[in-house]
Amino acid sequence: MLTICRFPDDLTFLRRIAPPIEEAEFGSQALYNFAEQLAETMDAFGGLVGLSATQVKETNRQPIDGSAVVYQEPAWRIFSMMVTDNEATTVCNPEILWLPPEKDWVMGPEGCASFASVQEHMKAPAMMKVRARTVSGEDYEATLHGVQARCFWHERRHLDGLLLSDSMKPLQKKMFLKKVAKAYKEMGR
Ligand SMILES: [Zn+2]
Repeated sequence: MLTICRFPDDLTFLRRIAPPIEEAEFGSQALYNFAEQLAETMDAFGGLVGLSATQVKETNRQPIDGSAVVYQEPAWRIFSMMVTDNEATTVCNPEILWLPPEKDWVMGPEGCASFASVQEHMKAPAMMKVRARTVSGEDYEATLHGVQARCFWHERRHLDGLLLSDSMKPLQKKMFLKKVAKAYKEMGR
């Protein structure tokens, strides 16, 4: 199981910008293993709807073609999300093809495993058209609605080092981070 990074202790990890998965990496054992670990970790934490590679510390990513690529703080451009109640889907190099203008976004509860899963009301797109690759390299295209759209939006931002708290107004952020600190304290850590 992977260790989930926490705000603010693991900010260096959480702020990573995940480099794209390269063509030669699709279908590799290393990528399969990592995808499996992501899904397992989500499962073990029960109730997580998404988890991105920048939220964990152990990615074990190495250049596989002997190239000079050096991953300083390695992360894969990949995340797992629940598309149905009990099935996790892992997507690589995710892209947003279309999303509604911000005035049409909707408010809804949003939490993050890196913030003790404390929920906050946030605006997010209610619908999105997305494209990605599967772990084996196949094309994945989907139109997502509701929780799935919010989840894709949230996880995709993680891969660029952006966090839930970044979209909050100063006072909201202050209150939210207080609740997060309290939640971690209650968990005994
Ligand atoms: Zn998150």
